[in-house]
Amino acid sequence: MKILVAVKRVVDHKVNVRVKADETGIEDANVKMAINPFCEIAIEQAVRFKDQDTATEVVLVCIGRKEADVQLRAGLALGADRAILIKVDEEVQSLDVAKLLHKVVQEELPDLVLLGKQAIDTDNNQTGQMLAALTNMPQGTFASNIVFTVPNKIKVTREVDGGLVTLALNLPAVISVDLRLNTPRYASLPNIMKAKRKVITVTSPETMGFSLSPRLTTLKVETPAVRQTGIKVADVDELVDKLQQAKVI
Ligand code: AMP
Repeated sequence: MKILVAVKRVVDHKVNVRVKADETGIEDANVKMAINPFCEIAIEQAVRFKDQDTATEVVLVCIGRKEADVQLRAGLALGADRAILIKVDEEVQSLDVAKLLHKVVQEELPDLVLLGKQAIDTDNNQTGQMLAALTNMPQGTFASNIVFTVPNKIKVTREVDGGLVTLALNLPAVISVDLRLNTPRYASLPNIMKAKRKVITVTSPETMGFSLSPRLTTLKVETPAVRQTGIKVADVDELVDKLQQAKVI
């Protein structure tokens, strides 16, 4: 069984992001970049299936700048077998990402496609859903547990408001993964060394016969308004008074 994992390069979640002076986006020059944390969980899950002999090959795919080979190499060090980098210099919007992933699916014919539930930079939470529609594959979103049952079927437990929903999907399928699915491992030194010899195939939308067609224009990116400092009230009467003054009640 082949698993394809979509991996996005994002600003590291520990970095305090700054808006560019011209408010056109986020400052990413000289900023630490990393694998999107949900994509790391997807890689970990695919590698666990390989460790259990359920999967035979784990292939990573990233659409991004040439520097994304660093994140792909890190994913290979976690245990993936090979990677594909679709080199694009500009930001690619979700529908184009999904269409490019669709092309990779047609080429690679994976049994399972794993994605993060969302990219922490754009918070779109839509690429997996779009890919499932384009490929006409069943989808399980926000997976907190994935179990192979009978051949060609998979059980996905989804985190929803107020509980868990378990679905049975026919393979091939598209699954987006949530935080509680697993805790990604750290790459060991021997695996980091091994990853240096693994293959990253570099291509581009043009080579794949695809032209990007962005549909949205970002008008402005702003930092959130600074919260005013709170005050302490002596008793309930004062609280009611203050709320009335603020026209909350
Ligand atoms: P989003 O819909 O943008 O929140 O992203 C959800 C998931 O889609 C991510 O966690 C990745 O698995 C995948 N994805 C989004 N953008 C890219 C990209 N540029 N390259 C590869 N995978 C991506």
